[in-house]
Amino acid sequence: MLTIALPSRQPELHYAATLLFGEFLGLQFSLTNSPASTATEIKLPNGATLVLGDHFFHKYDSLAEFQIPATVAWVNKTQNPFLCQANLPVLFGEARLQVSEKKITCGIDVLATIFFMLSRWEEYANPARDKFQRFPASAALAVKNGFHQRPIVDEYVEMVWNMLTHLGIGQQRKRRSFRAVITHDVDFPLQWRSPFSLVKKLGGDLLKRKSPRQATRSLANYFNTKKGSEKDPFDTFDYLMDQSERQGLQSHFFFLCGGGHKNDEGHLPPRHPFMVDLMKKIDRRGHLIGFHPSFDTFNDGQLFKTELAELQRFSPQEIKAGRQHFLRFEVPTTWRIWEENGMAWDSSMYFPEMAGFRCGTCHPFPVFDILQRKMLKLREMPLTVMEVTFMVYQKKAPDEALAEILSLLQQVRQFNGSFVLLWHNTSFNAPEWRAYETRYESLMALF
Ligand SMILES: [Zn+2]
Repeated sequence: MLTIALPSRQPELHYAATLLFGEFLGLQFSLTNSPASTATEIKLPNGATLVLGDHFFHKYDSLAEFQIPATVAWVNKTQNPFLCQANLPVLFGEARLQVSEKKITCGIDVLATIFFMLSRWEEYANPARDKFQRFPASAALAVKNGFHQRPIVDEYVEMVWNMLTHLGIGQQRKRRSFRAVITHDVDFPLQWRSPFSLVKKLGGDLLKRKSPRQATRSLANYFNTKKGSEKDPFDTFDYLMDQSERQGLQSHFFFLCGGGHKNDEGHLPPRHPFMVDLMKKIDRRGHLIGFHPSFDTFNDGQLFKTELAELQRFSPQEIKAGRQHFLRFEVPTTWRIWEENGMAWDSSMYFPEMAGFRCGTCHPFPVFDILQRKMLKLREMPLTVMEVTFMVYQKKAPDEALAEILSLLQQVRQFNGSFVLLWHNTSFNAPEWRAYETRYESLMALF
């Protein structure tokens, strides 16, 4: 058993310590407070001690004094042999390290960093927003300092584990294993929802894509779909389930169920016969049904609740997980709405314009409400890769995208984390997706 003395009683520090030693390392420990101290002291049963610097929590009573670091220093493996990579960004504290057989004193403020990355306090403190009121990647400390594609919280956890091992901890850590979590946000279950959707598609083919050939094909497909001789282009659900089953995986389908914004107009209500049949099929095949709350739900708990109730009414499964439409998110409001509606996990934490680790980890974790100052039951399952990032936001060639995805995947494997993929049901059967859709199978084959 480890005895951990924290230099303050703040719930934020308590949360960071609980996540580091409990959630991530799975160790036996007891937490105490020693407010006279200026560091966190971890005592091992063999008398050895690990001291982790504290550069914020012992000095201040509230987060109002917390600062987004003005600069980030880097420490390398020569300075700190406990790192698991060649270097590590230091957000709080200093690189200073003293090592003896029975004692390590580490100047890096590990707990403030873990709290900073996981709580997303930065997104509350920094008012930058994009046109959809989302916190933009360009404003994030991790992006500005080039460590957004590294799970630095997990790297910190490894460093602390290596220090504890050096001191002779005498406990096993929690065993975790890699897994792929395949998700599909269903914004448009069908392309041909009404004759109007045909008019709109033909307009796009002729005016935007300037392709009479494509327009002729759309027209033929529309009538063949009505006759039943062809599938609707967005009805790729069987294919997606086939691909997941081939890898022994389950697909999560997150359904958009309502909303009055123009960005919600593709949805079908859960009571629609196509949706009822689709959900039955998903359930029968052993895949999962989840929730994709509409455009304005991220700060509207009542709307969230109404849509969820409607989905639950027609779903053969209990709804426990999902992701916000357009990844619209407000810290901590949106997490609180998910918690209040009894959801088990959200998977919205991702910058749409850039793949990577928005929370600095590739592991699911219980979230912290920075205004109520408490840990919630709700877990965040951070999204790792969304196909739209590469095709729409970055306009990358498919092979270039695949190379970036592979580098992220390799890191998630290294840390035995969860690689969460979002691939929409609509990203197939269209000229703009043709080059990408073959990569779906290449990617799935890696899991
Ligand atoms: Zn969506």
